Amino acid sequence: MNCIFCQIAGKEKPAKIYFEDDNLIVFSDILPRATLHLLLCPKKHYATLLDIPDDILMNLMERARIISRELKIEDNFRLVLNNGAKSGQIIEHFHFHFMSNAPHLSAGIKNQSGR
Ligand code: AMP
Ligand code: ZN
Repeated sequence: MNCIFCQIAGKEKPAKIYFEDDNLIVFSDILPRATLHLLLCPKKHYATLLDIPDDILMNLMERARIISRELKIEDNFRLVLNNGAKSGQIIEHFHFHFMSNAPHLSAGIKNQSGR
């Protein structure tokens, strides 16, 4: 499928990956609109909130909680979902925007392997 996020999940296209497991991949947005701007995606292609299975949606939400704890921004992040092209969804592969402007993030974040 000609989907950029599927290609990132399949390692056919590069991305600054923050986290991944069997079901999810989290990477930096290429055009960040906050000090920290991550995209939380299922590895499998689902177009919108109406398509994604409940368990994968819960995995994404749980991951947002974990990232907020890891980065000590539990009280200072936004989770944004653009659902459908008319709302501004450009990439038709379900994703949450996870954004924070917490001051201590301006030194940059490291991924799980410390890079
Ligand atoms: P949306 O409007 O919700 O579909 O957002 C899509 C997001 O994907 C935008 O914020 C883009 O900057 C981002 N984006 C597009 N291509 C890439 C890419 N190759 N790597 C990382 N982020 C991307
Ligand atoms: Zn896809």
